[in-house]
Amino acid sequence: MDVFAHGLWSYAILRKSKAPGLVIVTGMLPDLIPFIPYFIHICIKGIKLKFGPPPLESIPNYVFTAYNLTHSLVIITLIFGLIFILTREIPLFLWAWPIHIAMDILTHAKAFFPTKFLYPLSEFHINGINWGARWFMIINYGSLLLIYFVILYPVPTQKALTVKSGMNANKIPEGYIPNATPVKAWYGVYWKFKRS
Ligand SMILES: [Zn+2]
Repeated sequence: MDVFAHGLWSYAILRKSKAPGLVIVTGMLPDLIPFIPYFIHICIKGIKLKFGPPPLESIPNYVFTAYNLTHSLVIITLIFGLIFILTREIPLFLWAWPIHIAMDILTHAKAFFPTKFLYPLSEFHINGINWGARWFMIINYGSLLLIYFVILYPVPTQKALTVKSGMNANKIPEGYIPNATPVKAWYGVYWKFKRS
């Protein structure tokens, strides 16, 4: 999956973490670590980039090695083990890393950076979906759009409705719509369903 979608998914899944900024960065790091030196190289050379996967033949070997290391469940298990031994805990934001790997196992085809999640023990990988395919991009970003709408405009529970408005839960006037903008959109839906 592309690095921006990884950042967005990481936040959507682990937003309850105490460090949401770190969640986004950690979710993108497995791709940033191998590709940042490559992008610096591209910028210096003045090569133009298109949206989507870059051509494989233009990518230097060190990118592949670094990519295999950052996309290995073996390596991340060792790192997690070390962190746990040293600190007796695994901070929630760090889970964005294995989540990234899990998503890439399914969304990388053999032809473009297949996720060798057992590297360096094994080269085994799954021939997954090509994340650059138009249909997948539409489904992926469409799902993210929907999820972020619900995150930004959460469906209010009966309790949230009354606590916010200071009303008695049993005495909300039929069709009541409050002024609190973030939840306003849902009230129309709420009353529509209640009536039907
Ligand atoms: Zn990745």
